[in-house]
Amino acid sequence: MQDFLQGRGLRFRGEIVLDGSRESMLHFPCVANRTVALATLLLAAFFATTNGVAQSDNGGMAPDPQIAAALRQVSAQRIQANIEKLVSFGTRLTISSQDPAAIAAGKGVGAAREWIKSEFERYSKDCGGCLEVKTDSFTEEAAERIPKATQITNVYAVLKGADAANAKRIVLVTGHYDSRNSDTFDVKGDASGANDDGSGTAVSLECARVLSKMKFPATIIFLTVAGEEQGLNGSGHLAKMAKSEGWDLQAVLNNDIVGGDKSAEQDHSVVRVFSEGVPAAATEQDLRRIRGLGGESDSGSRQVARYVSEVGRAYDAGVKPVLIFRLDRYLRGGDHYSFNEQGFSAVRFTEYREDFHHQHQNVRTENGIEYGDTLKFVDFDYVAHVARLNAATLASLAAAPAPPANVHLLTKDLENDSTLTWEASPGALATGYEVVWRGTSSPEWEHVQKFGNLTRATLKLSKDNVIFAVRAVDAAGHRSLPVVPVPER
Ligand SMILES: [Zn+2]
Repeated sequence: MQDFLQGRGLRFRGEIVLDGSRESMLHFPCVANRTVALATLLLAAFFATTNGVAQSDNGGMAPDPQIAAALRQVSAQRIQANIEKLVSFGTRLTISSQDPAAIAAGKGVGAAREWIKSEFERYSKDCGGCLEVKTDSFTEEAAERIPKATQITNVYAVLKGADAANAKRIVLVTGHYDSRNSDTFDVKGDASGANDDGSGTAVSLECARVLSKMKFPATIIFLTVAGEEQGLNGSGHLAKMAKSEGWDLQAVLNNDIVGGDKSAEQDHSVVRVFSEGVPAAATEQDLRRIRGLGGESDSGSRQVARYVSEVGRAYDAGVKPVLIFRLDRYLRGGDHYSFNEQGFSAVRFTEYREDFHHQHQNVRTENGIEYGDTLKFVDFDYVAHVARLNAATLASLAAAPAPPANVHLLTKDLENDSTLTWEASPGALATGYEVVWRGTSSPEWEHVQKFGNLTRATLKLSKDNVIFAVRAVDAAGHRSLPVVPVPER
């Protein structure tokens, strides 16, 4: 113990290794180890008495009881009913009919769109008009998978932030409501799309229903897009609109194929979270810095992925996120990329193991193999678990203070200490800041040091050996996304 305090903890020499375990300080709540707990207490006492500013504790995200209560409202039965409704439209192919007759008959992409809109409006009625239900409608000209100019409509609901200084900040959840079968031009044949992406659409809807009963400082947008199967058209249009209108969009959660296909090899306890490493929108200057200083795993999207991971440890969603450090699966793409292209942080949730017989296929049986994306293969409890993980992430981000801006790491002199500076989180939410860090080869944040309401901190730790980030914290313990510093000379 003595050795620990003097040799490691006290001087912040790199990794804090306790009892030979590599359990990080951020993971402390899970460690039932008296030695570790005692070490923490001694360390905390040291900081409280001799430093006066810095405190060190486990730093892990603690569950907010209100958010935890909201998660219990997520209903697998409602999700099932919503996916069944989406399947009932026959096809939701983007180029299928959307004329009044088809809408009245409850068939085609237009009928699906109108139903989603009415569903959001119903949730809004239940919360005294708290949601603003909107459409983003545009004409996509003829293209490879679009035979003639076609109207595409995204449908979304806005839960406006309740804090003036934070309402501009937006977090967004999305799924695509369009579907397809074997032939991407088949406007008549059924394309049930129960999993791809009835499941993701149901996640957006259920998050809207549950979270609209709460108030958050920042704004949450619940989005469903069309055109995904024809070339990410809907998300592309909305992401460009967000960019051109200057939305302060801080995180996008794209749910695509989160049905937990019931194949024998499926792992229903986890969901994959894909995130880009080097940002699609990186400038030449960004790329030079990334190459020089090892920033390949610190895109904004990756910080969102790590945040999802931390949320997954704090809340019992019923499913754990598995971070995949890759933009997307081989041969596949998704709507999160539309946002990445415009410079926004966006990740993709997808079930652990896909059954490709159950995607983009006409419903049929061949050689004993069942093809088709039908209801029977969807695990509605699993979709509900993924919805809980999404809702917890959205709520945690929207409840947190804005991240600190202009985070810098001073590199003017060659020295082994590390000094970080930042601008205070706008508004009155932040009561303090945390510097988090990890080894350069570590996937997730490992250590945290708390600071009061300061905008500058020096750590007895070499910037050459670790990656730092700074996040804002409020009185209730909500954490902002961490911001990796830019070197300042
Ligand atoms: Zn899809």
